[in-house]
Amino acid sequence: MTTEMMDTNSLRQRLSDLRVRLLAELNHVRDGADDGSGQMGDFDPNHPADMATEMFEREMSETLTENVEELLHKVQRALARIEQGKYGLCEDCGKAIAQARLETVPYTSFCITCQARQES
Ligand SMILES: [Zn+2]
Repeated sequence: MTTEMMDTNSLRQRLSDLRVRLLAELNHVRDGADDGSGQMGDFDPNHPADMATEMFEREMSETLTENVEELLHKVQRALARIEQGKYGLCEDCGKAIAQARLETVPYTSFCITCQARQES
């Protein structure tokens, strides 16, 4: 059985689109974090509440950056696996990942059994 049995073209397209979106998101988040000067709005350092909000938003954007980078990494790995003809096989047990799972999470590297084991 080859990966031609699977509709990798549409999945590859979806992953490519996702990668473009994640890269844009990453740039957006980084721009926001680096350039705080023009985006403070009516920020007033004399009001502690504003300061707290500012710090909270900075933490949020850092969390977001980590998640986006992790996701981007998975998407790029999935694209590489399509090129290698290994896409759709679990990286852990080597069994085929359910098609329905790939449709939902096209960037996953693990079958649902191994994923569940990792998360437990
Ligand atoms: Zn597995």
